Amino acid sequence: MNVVLLGAPGAGKGTQASMLADKYNLLHISTGDIFRANIKGGTKIGKLAKSYIDKGQLVPDEVTCDIVKDRLAQKDTSCGYMLDGFPRNLFQAKELDKFASIDYCLNIDVPLGLLMDRICGRRVCTCGESYHVSTLGGATTCLKCGKELYQRADDNPETVGARLKTYTQQTAPLIDYYKAQGKLISVDGNGSPKEVFARICEALKAPANRI
Ligand code: ADP
Ligand code: ZN
Repeated sequence: MNVVLLGAPGAGKGTQASMLADKYNLLHISTGDIFRANIKGGTKIGKLAKSYIDKGQLVPDEVTCDIVKDRLAQKDTSCGYMLDGFPRNLFQAKELDKFASIDYCLNIDVPLGLLMDRICGRRVCTCGESYHVSTLGGATTCLKCGKELYQRADDNPETVGARLKTYTQQTAPLIDYYKAQGKLISVDGNGSPKEVFARICEALKAPANRI
């Protein structure tokens, strides 16, 4: 099963992707994570990506599409994968259809008004876990692995505003793109990660929920 995860920044794509990857034995491929690893490693791609990410803009399509194409060409993807953060515009979606075969698009639907607080209160761990300050009770380390939590550089109000705008203008139209292909599964992303996960699993079980 090859799945595209769609949703606004902060909708919970990353959280749901890692839970889904565990349950369905899928590979979790996040373009955001790939860019952040490149930034950390000081690579050429990392330097280029940073200049866009800091502004809440999309990294150019040629760079992003090449990265995903190369990644999907690796053998370990044969068991199925979950694309988190790609495609993010119509061009990328059409490119993806040239080199991959997507079964479903899972859209996590969260009212845009909730996202600023969700993202600005987000604290993340290098192990992949993420939390919201409101549930940490003052803790500053990861409940799963004990490492110090940190805030992503682009999780500040100004950049988040730009990311939400980019999402509305460029990414949201992909909902209709996948709907037209009969591949869209949309779930309500409001609630705890566990609640949303249960909804997703139900929706994946019942094709009637596909819209
Ligand atoms: P979020 O979904 O919370 O915004 P991501 O980790 O998915 O976070 O992405 C962070 C940033 O990385 C984006 O704002 C964008 O600049 C860049 N990025 C990630 N995926 C893509 C993509 N498919 N195309 C272009 N830029 C991307
Ligand atoms: Zn951790």
